[in-house]
Amino acid sequence: MNVAVLSGGVGGARFLRGVISVVDPGNVSIIGNVADDIEVLGLRVSPDLDSILYTLTGLGDEERGWGRADESWRALETVAELGGEDWFSLGDRDIGLHLVRTELLRAGVPLSEATARIAQALGLRAHLLPATDDPLRTFLETPAGTFPFQTWFVERGHRDEVDAVHYTGAPDAMPAPGVLEALAAADVILFAPSNPYVSIGPILAVAAIRQALESRTVPCVAVSPLVGGRAVKGPADRMLARIAGGTTPAHVASCYEGLIDVLVVDESDERVELPGDTKIVVTHTLMTDLDASRRLAEVALA
Ligand code: GDP
Ligand code: CA
Repeated sequence: MNVAVLSGGVGGARFLRGVISVVDPGNVSIIGNVADDIEVLGLRVSPDLDSILYTLTGLGDEERGWGRADESWRALETVAELGGEDWFSLGDRDIGLHLVRTELLRAGVPLSEATARIAQALGLRAHLLPATDDPLRTFLETPAGTFPFQTWFVERGHRDEVDAVHYTGAPDAMPAPGVLEALAAADVILFAPSNPYVSIGPILAVAAIRQALESRTVPCVAVSPLVGGRAVKGPADRMLARIAGGTTPAHVASCYEGLIDVLVVDESDERVELPGDTKIVVTHTLMTDLDASRRLAEVALA
């Protein structure tokens, strides 16, 4: 069975760990969000791709929930001492990866190829594909102004309510090599329980990806990132309440209109009918450990 999964960072990675424990990783293609990518201190950082890389290769820091395990912060301490830009946390080991990626990009290697090389070096067997090699970036429109994603999320601690989300570069963004092929070869397409607006949304903003999903001939199953109408972590619930008008499964499904056949939601969520032919599947969706991730992946794949 071939599986294609659209994914953001931390929530997506947790789910993907379950997916690759029930499907041969060689048959799993991950289409990752790159609209959070940022240039920090001259380094190109791809937070969502890296969360996936670290989590799936066992290098991630489980307690912190992001970044690498056994991390140190000496380089960033020096940056702070020198009065450099230090609001974006970069660990020493993490910086090593960003150095390699940045160097490859500077030499003209596309992000998809750079990602494949890094993934192979780390021993990842699943295919990790950035949604696009082109510049695609999320901007948040808030009452305090419009901010690039990481300014809003990290620097301002996502305290600003979001009125609208924009994806710059989307009209010209082409799917990265392998993305359309992965969707065409998939027996089932999954949307990880990632933030619909800032993780899955930018992937769907790539027109050719959206078209491929609209004309799919295989089932597409999304997993809701909400548990009991609340985000497990992060601003997804507040964004849904303000932009979609609520946090029920119907509001989550409205983000994926015409694109999904099934929405998997938590037992603690409101029982509602979804519009159209979209079916709802109720299960335990809190991924407290690998077993829970695996069971959730099994339900989504079934
Ligand atoms: P990010 O890119 O690192 O912000 O991560 P994602 O967008 O992939 O995932 C963030 C979303 O994951 C949040 O909206 C969380 O509510 C959701 N999430 C995290 N853990 C869980 C979980 O155990 N179960 C479910 N259903 N959602 C989760
Ligand atoms: Ca992200």
